[in-house]
Amino acid sequence: MSTRPKVARAELVGAFGDPIDENPTGIMQEAAFAAAGLNWRYLLLKVAADDLGAAIEGIRAMSFRGINLTIPHKVAVLQHLDAIVPDAATIGAVNTVRREGNRLIGENTDGKGFLRSVREDAGVDPRGKRVVFLGAGGAARAMTVELALAGAAHVTVVNRTPGRGEELVRLLRSKTPVQAEFVPWQGEYAIPPDADMVVNATSIGLYPAVDVLPPVALGSIRPGLLVCDVIPNPPRTAFLKAAAARDARTLDGLGMLVYQGAIGFKLWTGVEPDIAVMRRALEEVFG
Ligand code: NDP
Repeated sequence: MSTRPKVARAELVGAFGDPIDENPTGIMQEAAFAAAGLNWRYLLLKVAADDLGAAIEGIRAMSFRGINLTIPHKVAVLQHLDAIVPDAATIGAVNTVRREGNRLIGENTDGKGFLRSVREDAGVDPRGKRVVFLGAGGAARAMTVELALAGAAHVTVVNRTPGRGEELVRLLRSKTPVQAEFVPWQGEYAIPPDADMVVNATSIGLYPAVDVLPPVALGSIRPGLLVCDVIPNPPRTAFLKAAAARDARTLDGLGMLVYQGAIGFKLWTGVEPDIAVMRRALEEVFG
């Protein structure tokens, strides 16, 4: 009687970026693969902007099951894919590619990860909420689109560079049902008293500049307001500490990072990952 040969080949996924050396996603995903008993590998691959097309052909040739995209590839990758799911097309950026047969499908899990963290970690349903976003970059774009599609009532985009903020507001008004307005960021921004949530979606507070706060009038943070930060490292930012000192509720950026990865894991493997294992792996990286 013959026994079935054990499959020695691992399934491959990974991330394309430049820079990529410090990216912690692989540690989180590999911890989840191990916990799920999956023979999968997550490779950090340094791919320069000009080499993206060749790299995508490479993953097609090498039967990768999917790939994450980070700086500078999230927008440029669209032209190399076979299909883009509707919300990623609205956002205009892809951070996760999955393979369906020979087709490469583009998804965006950043905003979905944030939404899941709002619902599951903060216990807040975004429907009907009035939300202030500080920042209008790629992360803000993904997060505001998903919040709008999930039924948020009103989004205020506060941004230093007016053109970028105005463009995001135009996108939200034309592609989602949300009411949106732009406020130029000059001096300290005072959070309106009717806001339910405020989100720092800028890179202010990211390691190593951990003591820097976004210019917000701290006196306008009222008790009970939900204050969120996109910065995952360190998770407890100076902004969240200041908000907690004013009895606001806080939500860190680590949850978003874990859930966007967990959604990608499920898209690739079809299996629900162990969220606690993923979070613990990241906490160890960030010390
Ligand atoms: P972008 O470069 O696309 O956008 C950066 C944003 O921050 C812009 O709105 C920019 O304003 C604003 N900004 C930066 N510095 C300042 C400053 N000194 N004063 C005022 N505004 C400032 O970056 P991303 O949107 O891709 O990323 C933003 C942050 O989100 C990063 O720190 C990243 O690590 C984090 N992130 C976290 C994720 C998670 O899962 N937790 C996922 C994705 C990103 P302006 O337009 O005027 O330049």
